[in-house]
Parts: sequence; structure tokens; C-alpha cells
Amino acid sequence: MHPTTIRACTVHGAGDLRIEERPTPAPAPGEIAVAIALGGICGSDLHYYHRGRVGDFAVREPMVLGHEVVGHVAALGPETEGPAVGTAVAIHPATPCGSCPECAADRRNICGHTRYLGSAAHLPHVQGGFAQRVTVPAAQIRALHPGLTLHRAVLAEPLSVALHAVNRAGDVRGKRVLVTGAGPIGCLVVAALRHHGAAEIVASDLVDEPLRIAAEVGATATVRADHPEDPAWAAPFDITIEASGAPAGLRTCVERTRRGGTVVLLGLLPPGEVGLLGNVAVTRELELRGAFRFDTEFDEALSLLAQGLPVDPVITHTFPLDRATEAFDLAGNRELASKVLLDLSTT
Ligand SMILES: [Zn+2]
Ligand SMILES: [Zn+2]
Repeated sequence: MHPTTIRACTVHGAGDLRIEERPTPAPAPGEIAVAIALGGICGSDLHYYHRGRVGDFAVREPMVLGHEVVGHVAALGPETEGPAVGTAVAIHPATPCGSCPECAADRRNICGHTRYLGSAAHLPHVQGGFAQRVTVPAAQIRALHPGLTLHRAVLAEPLSVALHAVNRAGDVRGKRVLVTGAGPIGCLVVAALRHHGAAEIVASDLVDEPLRIAAEVGATATVRADHPEDPAWAAPFDITIEASGAPAGLRTCVERTRRGGTVVLLGLLPPGEVGLLGNVAVTRELELRGAFRFDTEFDEALSLLAQGLPVDPVITHTFPLDRATEAFDLAGNRELASKVLLDLSTT
């Protein structure tokens, strides 16, 4: 017998995080139910918790957070094909519409009608994955490669974001690259750059601990953003990737990119307008490119994780679901934590 309720971590507004009982969802035709084991707390989950919004998306109704989740198949909907019950799986968090011009152009990650786990972009919001059981379309399910643990697979979503940003940068082989912001995403960008053959990878941050992790996952140099005299800044960069979400990080990227170079804007900036050194971008003919979410990079991420891409130092803590508030508070402390996981497997 399945319990009739599950517990889920929901946000009701800024600062209002609750563990709630919800009815156990049953998979409809075409859907698969997953018993969630682990969920990674993302910067966007933290923004929903602390500010009630991410960028321009505000929480307007209670929403289960979480989009970085892995677990085991619990049930298949009627007439639904997919991995057998009990199979360890990761969930691709997006279902694009499939029929808009962006989807037709193979750019499904910028589909304006995407349903993305735990996102307030649309109303009703898409409920997220920090729940003991979720149901998703079968197309979002990926069986894990043999030997890939759930504990590593849970990084597939943020690693996909990082791989997409590196794809947006173009060919990085042999290039000198700056990554501003060494949080979990910045560190995974470093690992992705390393994998794709960047020659020099400099990570910058205002805090030492994230820089230590960036060095462990492949940065060739790390530098404090507030130490402008550091020799790491001496030469300009072919490519800069802004992963801090701070206007100061964007400024650094624009200032530090060589003439004709590329700036990738990955971190979500504060809502509304932010300043830009426009004339620097004009006179150096900088390429400014946004990077948002990912598409097929999810499968590449799972393969790389199965092959042993060295990213384990990014995961620093794991908390049970009933200590979610503590987990969120720690995840926001950059001196102590990088990627913090919720363990949803306990019943
Ligand atoms: Zn995420
Ligand atoms: Zn679409």
C-alpha cells in the first residue's frame, strides 16, 4: 500500500518555507512517478525562498521548490513506456512546447512555453521536485548509466547549465577564460571548460572557500575579485563567463574581455535594468551572449558524470527533508557551503 500523502518543501512567499503534506500523485497516461531520493538546492531555489522571486519571476501561489532531482521509478502511468519500477533515474526538468519557432529551430531551452520543474515563470506555477514523489512526462526520465550513483547524478542539472554556457561561448579549446562567481554553477562551468579543452581557466570570487573548490575542479588560477593588483588579471581574456548574477561580475567580464572576445551572461541578474559598460562593448566589438538553462546537454552531463568528471568537491552537505530550512540557510552561506542536497528518501 502506498501512503496517501507525501511531504514536500514548498515556498509561499519571501522567507516562508514550509514542509507540507500533499496527496500522493498518481501518474496519468504518458507520465512516470518517481520516488525522489536526492535534490540539489539551486541558487534559484534560494532566491524564491529569500526574495519570493527569481529575476523577473515572482511566486504568486504556493510552489514546491526543486528542479535538480534524482530517485527511483515508483510507477508508470497507464499505457506508458519507460524504465521498470525501481530503476534509478534522473529527471530532465523541462518539457518544451515542441511547436514554437524556437523549438522548431532546435533551441528548446528558450521555448517561451516550457514547463520547468519548480518554476514560477507561468501561472499556475510548475510544482517542483522537492517532494517524496513527483509525476513527470515519461520523456523527462533518464535511466542512470550503470555505476553512476544518485549522489553524483544529482549534479546533472547544474552541470547541464554549465555545459550549455560553455557551448554558447563557442570553441573554447586553447582559450584563456574567466569565470566570475565560483558558486556551484561557476565551479561546474570550470569543470566543463576543462573538459572542453580551455587552456587557462581563471575563477574569480569575493570569498576564498568557493575559490578553493574551483581550484579542485579544474581552475588553473583563482583570484579574488576585490584584488585588482593580482597578476591573474594582467592579461585580457578571450572569453568571460558571468556566473555570479551580480552587476559587478558583469562589469568585470566586460572590462576584462579582449577586443573581439565573447562575454557569456549566465547568472540571473537582479530584476529590472542593470548597468553596462556599453561603449566598451561597442569599441571592442564584444559578443554578448545570454545562456539560459539547457537542452540536450542533460544527456551529455549524465555521460560525463558516469565517466567520472571530477566534480565531487562541489557537493558539501546533505540534510534530511525535515531540516530543509537549515539546509537552505546553510546553502546561502558561501563561506561554509557550495551545493547542499536534501535527502528525500526517508519516509
Ligand atoms: Zn539548478
Ligand atoms: Zn516551444
